[in-house]
Amino acid sequence: MDLQLEGRTVLVTGASSGVGLATTELLLAEGANVIACARDQGRLDAAVGALPGAERAYAVTADVTDRTQVEAAVQQGLAHFGSLDAAVCNAGRSLMSTLTDASDDDIRTELELKVFGSWNVIRAARPALAASPVGAVVNVNAILARQPETRLAVTSAARAALLNLTRSMAAELAAEGIRINSVCLGLIDTGQWRRRYEAYAAGGGTQSYSEWSAEIAADRGISLGRFGRAEEVAYPIVSLLSPRASYLTGASIDVGGGVTRQP
Ligand code: NDP
Repeated sequence: MDLQLEGRTVLVTGASSGVGLATTELLLAEGANVIACARDQGRLDAAVGALPGAERAYAVTADVTDRTQVEAAVQQGLAHFGSLDAAVCNAGRSLMSTLTDASDDDIRTELELKVFGSWNVIRAARPALAASPVGAVVNVNAILARQPETRLAVTSAARAALLNLTRSMAAELAAEGIRINSVCLGLIDTGQWRRRYEAYAAGGGTQSYSEWSAEIAADRGISLGRFGRAEEVAYPIVSLLSPRASYLTGASIDVGGGVTRQP
């Protein structure tokens, strides 16, 4: 099926790794132009530069929590491609911490990343998205937004704030023809989990990565019994951006392998 994204321009934050990189790859394969954003220019250039269709990707560096940097990145992308039709607000990480262990700064930083990491991008891109006949945004979120975990208490709360805010953004920006949806992730095999496994192994853990991840998947009640792959998230994201999804806004899709511990 033609997703009607050929020649459209999409901004992807967190494009140098994991879900953002897989989304960039799929968008390029669909014939879209991609403004690829992350903080580390070298890593971004290496990752995106290796993708098929990389000549239609344009790398910009920005910390999504910094409004000025995000505005500059959007303007650079617009100057390069001439228009902007969609954005994927994906940049982020999670903070393994209970509320008791988190400092006030940890809590502020996490809220800043999840809330402003999306709002800074949407606010900066808004005029261009409104000018597009197919303006669309996907906020990459987590199932934690509706199903908090104690060991990820601060991240869960920040995710809930983003999910709620996404509904409000979708309602407010609908009048400008901009659709905004959420994709809520379960456990996806990306850099985040590889780094956690390295810490486990460095701490004396003896399981292989696949044993370790299968045990976590079982513990979290994932019906499919495994972590997801980044490309399995890229497709739902890109399909929501597609003009074919023109009646979808304010929606949230869980991509969690049928995780069963829903509230
Ligand atoms: P990765 O760690 O693989 O990639 C994160 C990307 O975000 C990198 O490109 C990184 O590049 C970029 N990034 C991080 N912080 C910033 C920042 N402040 N400004 C700009 N870019 C930034 O992550 P995943 O692919 O696993 O995660 C993608 C999204 O999905 C995140 O929001 C994550 O929280 C969410 N998620 C992931 C889950 C999972 O299991 N993997 C589960 C639930 C949600 P650089 O460091 O150079 O900036």
